[in-house]
Amino acid sequence: MNNTRLYSPHPFCWRPAGGERHATTERPGEGQTFTALCGLVAEADLSEIGWFFATCGACNARAHELAAVPMPSAPDASGAREC
Ligand SMILES: [Zn+2]
Repeated sequence: MNNTRLYSPHPFCWRPAGGERHATTERPGEGQTFTALCGLVAEADLSEIGWFFATCGACNARAHELAAVPMPSAPDASGAREC
């Protein structure tokens, strides 16, 4: 049995940066530069407000792949919303 990943069930974590929450395989602290799964290079914003940023769509899709969790089906793939 392999317990080396006991404290990291998934190979990525979420960090607010640049107005969105991005997933990354790094573990950046406040103000540290990291590369997100979507390719964005940004500084981690660990302020309280940062955790309310919207989730980056590209990172979300990649994170679901890494976690082997299927994405919920989107009602409208075009991104257009009527409300
Ligand atoms: Zn992203």
